[in-house]
Amino acid sequence: MQGLWDYLNQTFMPHGGCYFWRPDLLWLQVGSDFLIAIAYFSIPWALIHFIRRRQDIAFDRLFFMFASFIFFCGVTHVFSIITTWNPLYYTEGAIKAITGVVSAWTAVALWVLMPTFMRIPSMAQLRESNERLSREVSERERAEDELRRTNERLEALVERRTEELEQFAYAASHDLEEPLRHVRTYTSFLEHDLGENLPEKAQEDMYFIRSSASRMSAMIKALLDLSRAGKQQLEWGRIRVQDVIDEAVEQLRESFEGREVEICGKVSHEIDADLSLLGALYQNLISNALKYSQDPVRLEFSENDRGSTVIFGVRDNGIGIGQAYVEEIFKPFSRLHGEVDCPGSGIGLSLCRKIVERHGGEIWVESKVGEGSHFRFQMPKQKGSKEAKDAGARA
Ligand code: ADP
Repeated sequence: MQGLWDYLNQTFMPHGGCYFWRPDLLWLQVGSDFLIAIAYFSIPWALIHFIRRRQDIAFDRLFFMFASFIFFCGVTHVFSIITTWNPLYYTEGAIKAITGVVSAWTAVALWVLMPTFMRIPSMAQLRESNERLSREVSERERAEDELRRTNERLEALVERRTEELEQFAYAASHDLEEPLRHVRTYTSFLEHDLGENLPEKAQEDMYFIRSSASRMSAMIKALLDLSRAGKQQLEWGRIRVQDVIDEAVEQLRESFEGREVEICGKVSHEIDADLSLLGALYQNLISNALKYSQDPVRLEFSENDRGSTVIFGVRDNGIGIGQAYVEEIFKPFSRLHGEVDCPGSGIGLSLCRKIVERHGGEIWVESKVGEGSHFRFQMPKQKGSKEAKDAGARA
C-alpha cells in the first residue's frame, strides 16, 4: 500500500499550486469526488427500481426528473476527477450546463407540484381513516347480523301463523260441512213430507235453500282442497307433462261435450313434480279456459326451455282479463264474474298458485280483455334445485 502511494506521488503533481504541493490534499479531493459520483449513480438506479415496482405512484415523471438530475450531478464529479489530470474544461462546462438545466427543470416541477404534495394525506391521517373505515365495517356487519336474525324470527313467525291459519281453515271447513249436510237432508225431508202440498212460493224458497247449500258445499270443498294442497306431503316423481295434460283433458270430457274445441300444441318435457297436484293444476286451467271462452274455443299448450326451468303455458281465445285484475284473480274467492253467468268458487287459481309455488315455481297470466288469456307457470326441472328452494321458501 505504501509502495502504491509512493509510486503515485513520484509523478508530477497536477494543480500543485492550488493544493499547496500537498498530495494528501489532492487525493482527498479526488477520493471524495469518486465517492460522491458512486453514491450519485446509485440513487437514480434505486429511484427507477422503486417506480418500476410501484406502478401506483402518481408522480413517475418527477421521479425520472430527479433520477436524471442526480445522475448528471454524479457525472460532474467524475469530470472533476478527469480534469485534475486532463484539461477537458469545455466538456466539463457542457456537462455542468446540462446538469444546471435538468436541476432547474426539476426544481420548477417540484414547486409546481407542491400544492398536490400538500394534499397527500399523512400516515397518521391514513391510519385514522383506516380505523374509521374498519369501525364502520364492523358496525355494518353487526347491523346486518341483527337484520338477519330479525328476518329469521319474522319468517319463523309467518310460517307458524300460516300453519295455524291453514289448520284453522281446514278444521272450520271440515266442521261447516256437517250442519250443511243437515240443511240439505232436512230440506229434502220437508219436500218429501209435504210433496205437492207445498205452496209454489215455498217450493221456490226450497230451491234457493238447496242451491245455496250446494254452492256453500262446493266452496267448502274448494277451501279444503286449497288447504290440503298447502299441507300435504308432496309425492315427487319424474313426470311427462304431456301425459298429465292428456289425463286432465280426459277427466274434463263432460265439459268438452257439445263444445267446439280445438286443442293444439304438445309439450315434451319431463319434470320432477307431484302427479296429482300437477293434474289438479292443469284441470283448473283447462276448465277455466273452457268456462271463460265462447265457441269455437282454441286451447293451446306450450313450453319454453329456460335451462334449469321450463315455462309451461295454457292459452285460450276467451273473454280475457283486464290488466287491473291479473294479480287479483290469484287471491282466494276473487272472482270477476257473477255466479249466474259463470258458476265457480273463486278458489281455482289460488290453488294453482299454491301448487306451483310448492314445486318451487311461479305462475302469472298475460291477458287483455277480449283477446284471450295466456296462463304461464315456470317450474324447476329438478326437485331441490336452487330455484325450487328459493320459491319453496316463499310459498
Ligand atoms: P272460478 O273460476 O271458480 O271463479 P278461479 O280462481 O279459477 O275461480 O278464477 C278466478 C277468476 O279469474 C274467475 O272468476 C274469472 O273471472 C277469472 N278467470 C280465470 N281464468 C280465466 C280465463 N281463462 N279467462 C278469463 N278469466 C278467467
